[in-house]
Amino acid sequence: MGRLAILDCSDCQRATFIPSQKLDELVDHERAAPNSKFVDFVCPHCGSGRRQPIESISTRETANEVQQVPIFNAFLKCSVKNCPAHVTVRTIAISRDQNAKPQKPLAQWKLDGIKCYEGHAVKTPLEMTDHTVT
Ligand SMILES: [Zn+2]
Ligand SMILES: [Zn+2]
Repeated sequence: MGRLAILDCSDCQRATFIPSQKLDELVDHERAAPNSKFVDFVCPHCGSGRRQPIESISTRETANEVQQVPIFNAFLKCSVKNCPAHVTVRTIAISRDQNAKPQKPLAQWKLDGIKCYEGHAVKTPLEMTDHTVT
């Protein structure tokens, strides 16, 4: 038994399932709005990235054991020069290896409404400064 969070993609209409517990680790907020929790998530099927408010993400019980999913956490540059914050987006990695690539390559990501901790837009073209696989 477990609980799955369902991240729907409004572009390709496909869903990504993540263990609910895992989702809790991916929640962010902006400095000015600590109570507005969200996940900045890139769809691993089409590369479309959107800010998904936590309250919009549905969950469901599953009778099966919940499969662990390797998360690719990408730290991207902010559009404001010298801004100390970066933009953190999450997607699915191809494996649990620390050097694993994201399922959809960065060059194919299309981000919409994703911002840094200070509320600035992400720099385009996207520039990744670091990443982790968790
Ligand atoms: Zn998609
Ligand atoms: Zn910024």
